[in-house]
Amino acid sequence: MTNSPFTPGIAPARLDAEALAENFDDLHGPLDGHEALVAADRCYFCHDAPCITACPTAIDIPLFIRQIATGTPEAAAETIFDQNILGGMCARVCPTETLCEQACVREVAEGKPVEIGRLQRFATDTLMAKGVHPYARAAETGKRVAVVGAGPAGLACAHRLAMKGHDVDLFDARPKGGGLNEYGIAYYKATDGFAGAEVDWLLKIGGITFHAGQALGRELDLSRLQAEYDAVFLGMGLSGVNALRATGETREGVADAVDFIADLRQADNLQTLAVGRNVVVIGGGMTAIDAAVQSKLLGAESVTLAYRRGRDAMPASRYEQDLAASKGVRFVFNAMPVEVLGNGAAVALRCEYTRAEGKSLVGTGETFDIPADQVLKAIGQTLDGAPEALALDGGKIAVTGAGRTSVDGVWAGGDCASGGEDLTVTAVAEGRDAAEDIHSVLAG
Ligand code: SF4
Repeated sequence: MTNSPFTPGIAPARLDAEALAENFDDLHGPLDGHEALVAADRCYFCHDAPCITACPTAIDIPLFIRQIATGTPEAAAETIFDQNILGGMCARVCPTETLCEQACVREVAEGKPVEIGRLQRFATDTLMAKGVHPYARAAETGKRVAVVGAGPAGLACAHRLAMKGHDVDLFDARPKGGGLNEYGIAYYKATDGFAGAEVDWLLKIGGITFHAGQALGRELDLSRLQAEYDAVFLGMGLSGVNALRATGETREGVADAVDFIADLRQADNLQTLAVGRNVVVIGGGMTAIDAAVQSKLLGAESVTLAYRRGRDAMPASRYEQDLAASKGVRFVFNAMPVEVLGNGAAVALRCEYTRAEGKSLVGTGETFDIPADQVLKAIGQTLDGAPEALALDGGKIAVTGAGRTSVDGVWAGGDCASGGEDLTVTAVAEGRDAAEDIHSVLAG
C-alpha cells in the first residue's frame, strides 16, 4: 500500500471532486458513428498492409476498417477479436504510435496515420455494448487446463482453450481478474470499470472457472497442478519489485509506483487518495510516466521524473513523454538517486549526475537535491516465486516456440516469460499462441 494520508506532506483531496473528475476523464474519448466513418475513409486498404505486420497480434486492420466503412462495426469487432480477444483494452492502452500507426502508410507519407486504435475501440465497444459474446465453445474434450494469472496472457490463453472445448481453471493472486489492466495502468486510459467489464464479457464463453486469491508458491504448487491437470499455463506477470539501493529508502513517503497506481485504479473516490506536494518519480518506463502524470492530476504542485540515462534511452515512448510534459511533469535525465534525505519522512531526493562510459553508466560525482515529500519508485519488476523446476533466462521463465517451458506440459507467456516486449498486446499474443500449442498437444 502507499503511504498513509497522515504522512507529513502527503495529503488527500488536494483538488475538489469536479477537478479530479475532469483530470481523470477518458484520455482519448470514443469516436461517434460519423467520426468513425470519416476516420475509416482515410484508410487506403493497402495490399500487404504494413500495419498488420506491426501489430503483435496480427489483426487484419484494413479488413476491420473496411467493415466499419461499410456500416458493419460488429463484423469489424469479430475480425479484431479473432486475433485479440482483449482488443477492447488494447484499443485503449496499446502504444499505437510505435506499432500499427507508426507503420501506417499515411503516417509515413503525411505524418498523420489512420486512427487505428480509436477505430478499433469504436468497433469493439459497439459489439461489447450489446452484451453479446460472439464465440461458442467446441464440443467438450474432457481435458482440464490450469491457467495461473488472470492478466492479459492468462485471459487470452484461457479463452482460446475454452473455445477449443477444454475446461479451464483460471487462478489469480488478486481478488479480481484483469492483471495489469485492472491494477496497473493509468486511470484515464480505461475508465468506467472497463477492465472488469471486459473480463466479465470474456468469461461469457463458458468453461472457465475463476479462482481469486490463489498464488503460485503460496496456495498453488506447480507439481500438484501438473498432477491434477492435463496442461499448465503460467502467466502470472512480475510481482517482485527491484530495490532502489539508495540510502534512506525506508523513509516515510517512499513507495512503489505500482502500489500507488493500483490504489488509484481501485479507488471509489479519488478525493481519498493522498499525494505529496512535491513528488519525485524514479524510473523511465510506462509505470513511471503513469505515476508521474497521475500525481500531477491528483494535485501535486511539482512532479519530477528522474531517469538515470538520457532521454533517448527511456523505455517510455516519446508520445508518452510528451503527454507527461503537457501535464506539467518535469524530466531530469542522467540522474541517479543516491539518498532520500529527511528526518523520518522524506524531504528531498539527492541524485548524482551520470554519464555513459561504453555500455556502462558511471556517476560524475556531482550531486543535486530535488525537494520531495513523496518518492515513487518505478524501477522495474522482477519474477517472484518461480518454481525451481523451471529453467530461467534473464530472470524470466525460459520459453521456446509458443511458450513451451523447460518442463513438459507447462507453458508460460506474458511478462513472466522470456522474449517479447512487456506490452498488453504482446501478452495476449503469447497467451493465444500457447493455447493453440497446448490444444495441438492435447489433441495428440
Ligand atoms: Fe489503412 Fe494505414 Fe493500414 Fe494502409 S497502413 S491499410 S492506410 S491503416
